[in-house]
Amino acid sequence: MQTIKAAVCRAFNEPLVIEDIQIAPPGAGEVEVTLDAVAICHSDITYASGAWGGYLPAVYGHEAAGVITATGDSVGGFEVGDAVVVTLIRACGSCPSCAGGQPTICETPYDSVNGPLRTADGGPLDQAMACGAFAEKVVVSHRQIVKIPETMPKDVASLLSCGVITGVGAAVNAAKLRPGQDVVVIGAGGVGLNAIQGARLAGARRIVAVDMTEEKLEIAKEFGATHGVLASLEQPWKAAFKALGGRGADAVLITVGAIPAYDQAPRYLGRGGKAIMIGMPHSGDMSSYEPVVLAALGQGVVGSKMGDVVIQRDIPWMIDLYEQGRLKLDELISGRWSLDQINEAIEDTKTGSAKRNVVLFDRG
Ligand SMILES: [Zn+2]
Ligand SMILES: [Zn+2]
Repeated sequence: MQTIKAAVCRAFNEPLVIEDIQIAPPGAGEVEVTLDAVAICHSDITYASGAWGGYLPAVYGHEAAGVITATGDSVGGFEVGDAVVVTLIRACGSCPSCAGGQPTICETPYDSVNGPLRTADGGPLDQAMACGAFAEKVVVSHRQIVKIPETMPKDVASLLSCGVITGVGAAVNAAKLRPGQDVVVIGAGGVGLNAIQGARLAGARRIVAVDMTEEKLEIAKEFGATHGVLASLEQPWKAAFKALGGRGADAVLITVGAIPAYDQAPRYLGRGGKAIMIGMPHSGDMSSYEPVVLAALGQGVVGSKMGDVVIQRDIPWMIDLYEQGRLKLDELISGRWSLDQINEAIEDTKTGSAKRNVVLFDRG
């Protein structure tokens, strides 16, 4: 066991505590990654609020990038010194979902409480989301990581681990957008801006962003939205129909966790359209829709986890598009913080005006 620093959740709805923890060396199929950057995702905040339950104490954080500093046996060609992004997708590679090409819904359970982490006094510590990246190091499966160019800044690369693949993947993999189709994206935050970018990459004709403030709608346009609609309108879907030339969208991508967005989403759809649920409401929150309308108009409502990505397939092409200037990543970062400032970074993220806040580790 080694001792490292981590931001630990000891009680829901309390600030994270910076403390020493212990981390085990990598076992078979695992690697140790020393982190340079970890971004703060709304899922981390939802977990820390207790809304999804889970074991405490826990280390959250799942949007990370760093360098491999140790490997176990059989790690698929990864080597010490490789620069990588670390995702939460701990896919087994052989269950029916993995074998069917959907590793984001892997069926093999992972016991994260009995994973590589222990508290300083040797007690159990949850490696939340199979990652535990609010820490100087992680020990994860080699199936969770993807090599990145050594020259790629790690703060930028870390965004590929969750927000970018979830948003772009929802447009490309889940909605399977074709050139010329019309899209509505509800929410222009960290994931929504990437859903907008994904729709643009897929060749969407019109991309309508829906959010609460004019400021966020303006940012959405920088990422490819062609129109903006204020969610505070009494019937915002009517404004979207107008933007779409009088018809509904081929796809509506719901990137927020607020239930009204789920209730309203089918209203934005045209005939044959699909609503893709990407955001993550609190456990127990319910939504309703009118089945007869969906049946009569041939519409669908479908969930998408982590953009239905296959990280080994999708992250390399996203890196190429970034390097070609076709995928915006630098522009997604609104703040850089140290590990000691993580609670401030979380508070800033909660305000909703931040895009992505990234914690940088001092490896001096
Ligand atoms: Zn996330
Ligand atoms: Zn699996």
